[in-house]
Amino acid sequence: MSIVKIKDLTFKTFIPEAEIQQRVKAVAEKINKDLADKNPLFLAVLNGSFIFAADLMRNITIPCEISFVKLASYQGTTSTGKIKEVIGLNEDLAGRTVVIVEDIVDTGLTMKQMIESLGTRNPESIHICSLLVKPDKLKVPLNIEYVAMEIPNDFIVGYGLDYDQQGRQLRDIYTIVEEK
Ligand code: 5GP
Ligand code: MG
Ligand code: MG
Repeated sequence: MSIVKIKDLTFKTFIPEAEIQQRVKAVAEKINKDLADKNPLFLAVLNGSFIFAADLMRNITIPCEISFVKLASYQGTTSTGKIKEVIGLNEDLAGRTVVIVEDIVDTGLTMKQMIESLGTRNPESIHICSLLVKPDKLKVPLNIEYVAMEIPNDFIVGYGLDYDQQGRQLRDIYTIVEEK
């Protein structure tokens, strides 16, 4: 096990690189089977999914396209407060099979808003592919078809995920060490 310090926090190895790679490959194989004749459009959500998206795509063997989007937060008027808007999307989604590539689903509110937003562009279908899911924290009903790994509620970094913008380059996934 290795320990890393990022700013004020200490993290330890949680999921080693080799296991991540195995799980990513397994998810890609499921997509290869399910969406073989759909020419899916993968939409990777930056920044967190950049490494996952790269490794996933290198295991996709069917015809497909990939593009990258960001989510911009602004203060909305709904009870949930912040609204997230999809920015940087130039593709026409009409009739397309869309696969959102996300780093982690926590409460699920981000994915719910993103699906609602993409849904207005008339895709044939929208699927979620997330590296990580914290099932105990899901607040909204969400059908996450493609999940590499389910994890407990602890805060994690590495493999694209950050703590205060640091740690994205770590090859393994790390979890926070309990403060005494
Ligand atoms: P949700 O809307 O599902 O609650 O939030 C999802 C977003 O919160 C993720 O895309 C990610 O940016 C952030 N997030 C949730 N849990 C973690 C975590 O354990 N580590 C990191 N680095 N980000 C997280
Ligand atoms: Mg994310
Ligand atoms: Mg973050």
